[in-house]
Amino acid sequence: MKLVFIGLGNMGLPMARNLVKAGYEVYGINRSRGREAVFAESGGKVGLSLKELAMQADVIMTCLPMPSDVEQIYLGTEGIVANGRNGLTLIDFSTVSPDLCVKISSAAEQAGMDFLDAPVSGGTVGAEQATLSIMVGGSRQVYERALPVMEKVGKNIYHVGEVGNGTVVKLLNQLMVGIHTQAASEAMTLADKMNLPKDMLHRILSNSFAQSRIYDRHYTQFVEKGEFQAGFALNLLHKDLVLVKKMADDIGAALPIGTHVEQLIDTAKVKGFGEKDMSGMYLYMSEINGQRQVTK
Ligand code: NAD
Repeated sequence: MKLVFIGLGNMGLPMARNLVKAGYEVYGINRSRGREAVFAESGGKVGLSLKELAMQADVIMTCLPMPSDVEQIYLGTEGIVANGRNGLTLIDFSTVSPDLCVKISSAAEQAGMDFLDAPVSGGTVGAEQATLSIMVGGSRQVYERALPVMEKVGKNIYHVGEVGNGTVVKLLNQLMVGIHTQAASEAMTLADKMNLPKDMLHRILSNSFAQSRIYDRHYTQFVEKGEFQAGFALNLLHKDLVLVKKMADDIGAALPIGTHVEQLIDTAKVKGFGEKDMSGMYLYMSEINGQRQVTK
């Protein structure tokens, strides 16, 4: 079976590597060529164009940053739907809007291709260890056919109904990721102000109701080390919260805290924190509190 993986970034590269490790023939495509070279070092195949691959592949997967990237790769004149062969299976692991998933799926169907929206959660560690949660929307039959491939990159895989539904679940996840990020950042910066050691705070709250996976991730992988190189960039979290807001607005649902967190992250982006990991909200909150942190 010939697989193609487009978008060899923080998530895509380890996911594509796991498919190679599982024994598949995997072709990688990335906008910046350096990532393709890294993939080739792990046994991935590179060097063929999207047009060439779209005529040969059995399954094409994508893990791209922004909805505009996803739309262009699937629906652009040089993209998959216009140039792919009949019978292709398409799986998008990116986080976009449910509407875009439906739009791609309809175009794919008309071209004789099957599409699944399959956004993931679990971060770069989950991508490396192939333990991602995957929330899949699309026909049950296509889901079952694609399951053996998805099982090589994820552990908890859920079929949640028609196309776009996987993305609805993922966006609800991201709403909570955003709010928990802000909650943890505020608690940690307030602890700093009160001269309370953050390792002690983390130890105690890990056994208390304030415990959260996001707090644990942000503290142990980033804040404690003073390192904020993006596993998941604040820019991407902001993109997700804008998507959540649009989804809520479309059905007239209130989102008081989510909206506020979206605006806070937007300001942090303007202040230059967008490329940092999402745990960089701690740095931004520290700056607001007049406690600039030393980072590596
Ligand atoms: P990233 O920016 O690290 O990687 C994206 C890669 O796609 C980059 O290497 C970029 O060069 C490439 N790319 C962009 N446009 C392209 C194009 N047109 N053609 C080919 N390659 C292109 O992003 P990421 O963190 O891997 O996230 C990817 C997606 O997965 C996003 O939608 C994000 O929201 C989602 N996601 C990320 C995480 C995480 O922890 N990083 C977790 C869950 C979901």
